[in-house]
Amino acid sequence: MSAPHRIIGQGLAGTCLAWAFHDRGVPFEIVDRENGGSSRVAAGMINPVTGKNFQPSWRIAEFMPEAVDFYQRLEVRLGGVFWHPLPVLRLASSAADWDKIRGKLEDPEVSPWVAGEVPPPDDRWVAAVELKGGGRLDVPGFLQASREFFSALGVYRQAEADPASPEDARGIWCEGATGLIAGRPGQHRCAKGEILTLRADGWDEPHIRVADGGWLIPLGDGIFKAGATYVWDVLDATPTEKGRRQVEEIAHRLAPGPFEVIGHDAGVRPILRRSQPLIGPLGEGWFFNGLGSKGSLYAPGVARRLAEWILDGVEPDPDLDLRRFLASVKH
Ligand SMILES: Cc1cc2nc3c(=O)[nH]c(=O)nc-3n(C[C@H](O)[C@H](O)[C@H](O)COP(=O)(O)OP(=O)(O)OC[C@H]3O[C@@H](n4cnc5c(N)ncnc54)[C@H](O)[C@@H]3O)c2cc1C
Repeated sequence: MSAPHRIIGQGLAGTCLAWAFHDRGVPFEIVDRENGGSSRVAAGMINPVTGKNFQPSWRIAEFMPEAVDFYQRLEVRLGGVFWHPLPVLRLASSAADWDKIRGKLEDPEVSPWVAGEVPPPDDRWVAAVELKGGGRLDVPGFLQASREFFSALGVYRQAEADPASPEDARGIWCEGATGLIAGRPGQHRCAKGEILTLRADGWDEPHIRVADGGWLIPLGDGIFKAGATYVWDVLDATPTEKGRRQVEEIAHRLAPGPFEVIGHDAGVRPILRRSQPLIGPLGEGWFFNGLGSKGSLYAPGVARRLAEWILDGVEPDPDLDLRRFLASVKH
């Protein structure tokens, strides 16, 4: 029998790839050094239309149904609930902001996600639109349940892989930001992010609220996540006072009432070009990275394409091809 494929990293990328191999009955092992990674702090939000410019996420119509189907299938298999569908309330804080949003509501890529205009929740906002199809993935819960499943099969273990070792060099590198910061496969644009966990004091909100580059996500039982900062010059996973203050400001703007901060986390988003992941051969092995701020949305679909490339020789569309990206940045 040929040697099992070795997946390096059990974040969202490596875990989704492991499921793609498992579902096809292909021998593999997955290793992780278990000292962090951005998936362990990710809020797991999928918002179909994002950012200050109210843009549909890249190829959302294609990746979103595949992601939701993937997580729901694994809920049945693993006996947990990971995907929490939630309506998104996009709030406009100024007339100019609302003009930008309103001008896109009829866009054919945006309109399928629009539930409709709704009255803003209070007089801090000039207008609001409700979006459908979004939600939150319990990323740590999904990773933990997957790790337990693969451990029970004897294919998961804690280990630090080393690119200088011949065996590891032939592995499938799903290292997240640490790999990009180490220089694989070249220049990166990783960004540190900080988020807070809040306990609501006497209020509730069933929507994900989004405005002015910030968000507030309900986890249930009066607990919310709020975020997030973007910092490009200090790439570590240490929460800072400055980051906490920035996210507290976001949370005060978005929350309907007072709250207590009960958690503060930081991580580094693995970014090569916005939140558009890349896959492909690298050295003697393979590469899957660059999930950016949107790992929950892209990891399942991109993992399936990488498995088809490795196992069947079916190359993905050029947009996802690391070789093409590397050739383009050289010019
Ligand atoms: C503050 C913050 C908020 C976020 N919120 C969201 C959100 O709401 N929605 C969303 O979709 N995304 C969000 N993200 C982004 C999301 O976290 C990433 O897109 C995703 O987690 C990246 O997954 P990954 O598997 O590529 O990397 P990681 O999660 O970093 O996983 C890499 C894994 O590889 C392991 N590893 C690395 N090198 C080695 C080695 N040499 N040997 C062994 N193991 C190794 C690490 O231990 C780690 O477990 C957020 C990120 C941050 C920082």
